Amino acid sequence: MNETSRIYVAGGDALIGAALRERLRANGYTNLVGEPPGEPDLACPWQVEDFFAAERPEYVFVAAGPSGGIRANQSYPARLMRDNLLMTVHVVHAAHHHGVSKLLYLASSCSYPRLAPQPMRVASLMTGPLEPTNEAYAMAKLAGLVLCQAYRRQYGAPFITAIPANAFGPHDDFSAEDSHVIPGLVRRFHEARCCGQAEVRIWGSGSPRREFLYSRDLADACLFVMRNYDGDKPINLGGGQELSIADTASAIAAVVGYRGRLSFDTSRPDGMPLKGLDAQPLRKLGWTPSTPFRTALAETYDWFLRNIVTQENRDARKAV
Ligand code: GDP
Repeated sequence: MNETSRIYVAGGDALIGAALRERLRANGYTNLVGEPPGEPDLACPWQVEDFFAAERPEYVFVAAGPSGGIRANQSYPARLMRDNLLMTVHVVHAAHHHGVSKLLYLASSCSYPRLAPQPMRVASLMTGPLEPTNEAYAMAKLAGLVLCQAYRRQYGAPFITAIPANAFGPHDDFSAEDSHVIPGLVRRFHEARCCGQAEVRIWGSGSPRREFLYSRDLADACLFVMRNYDGDKPINLGGGQELSIADTASAIAAVVGYRGRLSFDTSRPDGMPLKGLDAQPLRKLGWTPSTPFRTALAETYDWFLRNIVTQENRDARKAV
């Protein structure tokens, strides 16, 4: 991949895709094709085929497909599974048909078995049942991973798969109900602070542990593996901050400046108990994340204030 390469980030307007586009530019890769709002509808095979025929991308990052937090996974499993399957099948096939030089598919740490030994190693994939709250989404991401291996095996396609830790950062979904834990709590603590709420109820027991990776670091990891890794086996993109949900909530409350009480709503599900990735293979290749967790949280909150809150205030003024 060099500075004149034609690069396509599928899913360029969401959390990981937006960070990828920013980091590609920052690293001198400016020949990006299909940037939002010019992306094709990836659920439509004809649009994807026409786009690849017209734009001829040479390097493709597949960060496409809807995702969501624990509640979204329980509420819309069919949409999450169907859209992810369709988009992945269309992009991967078009990339093969048009002979791209390399494709990186982003799977998900949900695709590991619910009780995989920690930290989760690639060898544990498909060795046990998935977490029931996100089985449909996890299965679609697993199918994408196997699809890339299948194109590699049958056609020698230069497709690799990476499995990222739980990402967060600017351009995330900050809705109160459907988002992942960090953006969800950023919003809920912000609103609680603004209206002087005495208590915020954290979903679940607070004891599950997650590994969080800032989207900018994750984008850098994607660039790194695109340049430095090739192989049939997926590679974990980890090495981020591992914390319990209770500690995560306290860290977010501190960054937002919320000083009320935190309580735990155990009628809500916990999801997977532990989700840490074995980052040894990536570390051995020479990559580790660089942004401290608190800095990443502060930048995320700042982005939320300057973009989401500002826009919502503007919309509210218009509606009056
Ligand atoms: P997961 O990593 O796929 O389980 O997805 P999430 O990011 O949605 O949830 C991670 C953990 O945080 C789960 O144990 C949730 O129950 C817990 N959690 C606590 N408060 C919240 C919240 O406000 N939103 C979300 N999405 N999860 C929360």
